[in-house]
Amino acid sequence: MKNPWEVRPEVASFASYEAGISIEEIAQKYGLSKVVKLASNENPFGISPKVQAVLQDKIGESFRYPAAKNPRLVQAIAQYYGKKYSHIKPEQIFIGNGSDELIDLLFRVRIDPAVQNAVAFKPCFGLYETQAQFHGCALRQAPLRDDFSFDVDALLELVDENTALVLITNPDNPSGRLMPKEDMIRLAKSLPSACLLVIDEAYIEFAEADLSLLSDLPKYPNVAIMRTFSKVYGLAGLRIGYAILPEELAEYLWRVRLPFSLNYLAQEAAITALFDDDFRKKTIEHVEKSRTLIMQTLKDFGCEVIPSASNFIMFKPPKDAILVHQKLLEKGYIIRSLKAYGLAKYLRVNVGLDDENTGFLHTLQSILES
Ligand SMILES: *Cc1c(COP(=O)(O)O)cnc(C)c1O
Repeated sequence: MKNPWEVRPEVASFASYEAGISIEEIAQKYGLSKVVKLASNENPFGISPKVQAVLQDKIGESFRYPAAKNPRLVQAIAQYYGKKYSHIKPEQIFIGNGSDELIDLLFRVRIDPAVQNAVAFKPCFGLYETQAQFHGCALRQAPLRDDFSFDVDALLELVDENTALVLITNPDNPSGRLMPKEDMIRLAKSLPSACLLVIDEAYIEFAEADLSLLSDLPKYPNVAIMRTFSKVYGLAGLRIGYAILPEELAEYLWRVRLPFSLNYLAQEAAITALFDDDFRKKTIEHVEKSRTLIMQTLKDFGCEVIPSASNFIMFKPPKDAILVHQKLLEKGYIIRSLKAYGLAKYLRVNVGLDDENTGFLHTLQSILES
């Protein structure tokens, strides 16, 4: 290095994760008083009243450091799952500042970039690509089929004895598709035993049946399940994600994680949210009902619609998607353009409140008819 500001080549060429556009940005740009954001798969009901009350109650304690390694939240998660799956032990639970931190740490603890590689589908969640790049890790990607279903054999072909991570999102983002359980089992069983299969289940609560391998995890010692408080629990702004994974790996992750990466208020909110069954049920019911309606209406408008098991829907409008996206923005509807995923003809919209969904659909209809 010649200069004090020089960085590693992976940093110099780094392309940051493209986050959704903000409401303020669009309101200001187009002089709108009301902007609806249906772009980041957030919970339309916002934060649950119970969680809000707890945050207000606990705010005065924020001058203290949180307990390192978040023991209260680990116990709460173990207790929550223990009711259903007696095999899940607290020692298998690892918590981070959003699943984002978990993804980042998995690359850092598992991958020696000179030797190991990672495997994912293409397109995949943007963070798998950014964090692989940051760590200098080769990410091998198998294309999804044309209908966005998962070609497990194509994925397996990319795996070799140096593959340390295979990353799957189920239901997938951005397509919303669900991998059939038998495919997931086949994948888990076919991977070399030293390869960790990471199943990112950020949206699993919205899938109609419980298709997670969590129910018989002891049969699959090479599987890590990742979940988040950002979607069904409505806490995206507080940044809480967790994983259930091999005990030995959890121990290493706790060892290297920054001691206070999950803040005190986030931990208290998560404990309350986990046992707030009413809010979770209300959210899931609303998503299931609205998803059916939005999918059907989009089809009636002549859009190609990918079947979704999630809280968002990916579709291809019968007009130029980039233009449709732009016109929606001008009318105060922020949805997601999938250009950054290499899918310039597609858009992704998440379920909002009833009036937001109808407002979006009416606006889209007027754009498609103009
Ligand atoms: C939203 C999302 C997450 C959640 O990330 P957090 O960091 O927990 O907010 C994880 N994976 C995928 C694929 C997502 O879409």
